[in-house]
Amino acid sequence: MSLRTKFMLALLLTGLAAVAMVGTLAYIGMTKKVDSIRRERAAEQFHTAVTAYLRKYGSWQDSPGKQGFDEFMQSGEQPPMLSDGAQSEDRRPPRDEGRGPQDDPRGGMDDGRGPPPRGEGEPERRPRGEGNDEGRRPPRRGGEPPFRFILADQDFRVVLGAGVYRHGEALPEAARKDARPVMVNGRVAAYVSPEGVITPSKQELQYLAAMREALWYGVSGAAVLALVLGFLLSRSLGRTLGHLTSAVRAMHGGSLLQRVPVEGKDEVAELAVAFNDMSEKLARSHQELQESHQTILAQAEQMRELSVRDALTKLHNRRHFDEQATTLFSHAVRHKRPLAMVIGDIDYFKKINDQFSHATGDAVLRQVGEILRSHMRLSDLVARYGGEEFVIAFPETELPQAAALCDKLRGIIESFPWHQVHPDLKVTMSMGVYADLAAGTAEAMLQKADALLYRAKETGRNRVCFAA
Ligand code: GH3
Ligand code: MG
Ligand code: MG
Repeated sequence: MSLRTKFMLALLLTGLAAVAMVGTLAYIGMTKKVDSIRRERAAEQFHTAVTAYLRKYGSWQDSPGKQGFDEFMQSGEQPPMLSDGAQSEDRRPPRDEGRGPQDDPRGGMDDGRGPPPRGEGEPERRPRGEGNDEGRRPPRRGGEPPFRFILADQDFRVVLGAGVYRHGEALPEAARKDARPVMVNGRVAAYVSPEGVITPSKQELQYLAAMREALWYGVSGAAVLALVLGFLLSRSLGRTLGHLTSAVRAMHGGSLLQRVPVEGKDEVAELAVAFNDMSEKLARSHQELQESHQTILAQAEQMRELSVRDALTKLHNRRHFDEQATTLFSHAVRHKRPLAMVIGDIDYFKKINDQFSHATGDAVLRQVGEILRSHMRLSDLVARYGGEEFVIAFPETELPQAAALCDKLRGIIESFPWHQVHPDLKVTMSMGVYADLAAGTAEAMLQKADALLYRAKETGRNRVCFAA
């Protein structure tokens, strides 16, 4: 499940739970409040009606009793509060549902005045065993009075028992506390005590139904709101996370420097800022690492180059020559191509050192090296083999060309203006050239060339001896 869906579901569930809880509490609270208001109002009306009735007759004993009270209630003599609109209509007791004293399991309300009257607040008699609030509740039937009240005379003897007390019995102490006196001519003529249950009127039921409907509208509205908010919030969250995911993928692909947009100041924005910082540092470190890697590579190359070069002449050294000569020899053999090997040695070099100084000797070595290097092709291989000895490999070169080239080199060395180095300095070189691959190895060819060099030395120096 995607984060967006989870987020939307979480918002939806939270919104619905909150609305359901608030709605239920509001519904219960309002229902209770409505119930209480109705009870108070009904009690007030009943009290007013009893007051009016007793004012007319003086006392319950002097009145026509319950029947008379019932008729009084229906006669329209009661105060206006009781006769206004549907509410008083609802509260009016049923004309007759065949209930009388025989309905009372304890023999009805025996006030000695004939059949017990029924009216506003008149109880349906219930067994005393159902003495708690719930138990006192009369069975609800269509047309029953919506609530009931207990009426006691000035001596707290029950006149109307509301199905809870028998007529004539003394009202218990507990009930007396809640009883409200009915004053007639400045003295207490009776007590009214609230009892029974409230059966909601049609209007009230409609009102409660409207409340329930409004609650459902609220829940539905909250669900829609939660969905819309969830969609909008998750879209924004998903967008930022999407940027981060793409950026991470790009980094994985090698583009370390990434920048995601930072929206707002929440944790996701903090994550985006941290990510940008990390990406920048990572890219910088990577750049530095690459630079240092390049430096190391360059230094390694430099080291490698130094390891194959002669420090004095800057020509390749013997080790490098041996490696490369072997490769050149193999290549020549494989492709049946010519290869000439040369070894040259400066004549009387020991004398030069001795006569002009070691530094002059070094200068001679450097200059000879430079002459050889500057007259080589790119494919030729030249090296200082050791001391005042130089070696050359001429690939793709037959012996006559190699010998001619070596003689040319010999001439160049001889005719070089050595007097610039030292007035009396003269330098010559003897060389041996060998160009037969049949020798078997590059090393063997070199040995043959060395033998020819020896011959050049033997035969007067400053010459080139060669053999195929
Ligand atoms: P020949 O004509 O027979 O080759 O005689 P030569 O004196 O050149 O040969 P020898 O091998 O007797 O002398 C070589 C000298 O080269 C000995 C040594 O001191 C010198 N030498 C070797 N390496 C260097 C170097 O790097 N610099 C200098 N200045 N002299 C070196
Ligand atoms: Mg030598
Ligand atoms: Mg020498």
